[in-house]
Amino acid sequence: MSDYYEVLGLARGASQDEIKKAYRKSALKYHPDRNPGDAQAEKKFKEISEAYEVLSDEKKRQIYDQYGADALRGGGMGGGPGAPGGFSSMEEALRTFMGAFGGGGGGMGSGGDSIFDSFFGFDSEAESAAQQGASKKMNLTISFEEAMKGVEKEVLLNNFVHCSTCDGRGAKSAAGIKKCSRCRGSGQVHQSRGFFSMTSVCPQCYGKGKMVSDPCGDCHGSGRVKKKEPLIIKIPAGIDTGMRLRMSGHGDVGEQGGPPGDLYIFISVEPHSIFQREGDDIIVELPIGFSEAALGCKKELPTPLGNTCRITIPEGTQHGKVLRVKSEGAPNVHGHGKGDLLIKIIVETPVGLTEKQKELLREFGETEGDHNSPRKRSFFDKLKVFFSL
Ligand SMILES: [Zn+2]
Ligand SMILES: [Zn+2]
Repeated sequence: MSDYYEVLGLARGASQDEIKKAYRKSALKYHPDRNPGDAQAEKKFKEISEAYEVLSDEKKRQIYDQYGADALRGGGMGGGPGAPGGFSSMEEALRTFMGAFGGGGGGMGSGGDSIFDSFFGFDSEAESAAQQGASKKMNLTISFEEAMKGVEKEVLLNNFVHCSTCDGRGAKSAAGIKKCSRCRGSGQVHQSRGFFSMTSVCPQCYGKGKMVSDPCGDCHGSGRVKKKEPLIIKIPAGIDTGMRLRMSGHGDVGEQGGPPGDLYIFISVEPHSIFQREGDDIIVELPIGFSEAALGCKKELPTPLGNTCRITIPEGTQHGKVLRVKSEGAPNVHGHGKGDLLIKIIVETPVGLTEKQKELLREFGETEGDHNSPRKRSFFDKLKVFFSL
């Protein structure tokens, strides 16, 4: 087990505030919901949870500072067997931490169905600061052309916004807000369950640390109301399916003047009828006739960016050959130039031949020699070797 301070990237004298901030940052990064199937992240999450469990508790922290982690684990807290200081399992860690923080602004009204949503909404600064509102996610589908060129989309949000009647306070007047009597303003209560000391959200104020005695009539004390508002989303050129945009501060505002969460937009790009994307390259299949492939030809093609490119297909072009047109692919979404347009040649065998055409082909066939089909010749050469073994 690494040093708890190191795990959270903290100096030894870190304040409780700094510990909470560091925990929150790392927990968001390594949360299992955001790293599904990643054993490394899970391990890391467990480590930071364990570190936080100790460092956030002044008593345990003192013991840790003086005697190290073993003192907490091996019954140094006066516990017998089965009373480890650390978490016995991932579930235990999750339950404790989700219980302690999830109840805050947690995913309320965000329509979220997973721990992921509520996790974004949690607030670790329950002591005094107002809780941050929930972050939200939204799916947005755009056309292939829009993804190529970039687009602005207007969406309608139905977020919690600050109640203008009470200015987000939740109370009719500033005097109507009182410290919660049960948790004395901390938003947390400590419970002892056997050998465990658990910290959980105060059941009276739900972690807010304060109570409203004369609630505002419009928001019923929450300090926020639902409002439908349009928002313009700027989608950069080159965006692709699976990419995510973050719009800071466009989630729900928190209760009683809490800052807003963020809006996450998950992008899907509709498939195109002829162009296919692969990274920043665009692939197009170009069918040509059999005689065109044999004799060579020139073709004009629209590019994904709306230009026209002229390509020369050389004499004797084989099926499956890929021609590359530089910088006519998708723009890189981070602004690093453009991908290429890859033209894959599909040689089509003629069908529905007339008698005359068949006659011409038969005539051609009689003149056809080994040198006309180098791959075919090489294949049969290999077969001969194979059978002579
Ligand atoms: Zn109000
Ligand atoms: Zn309370």
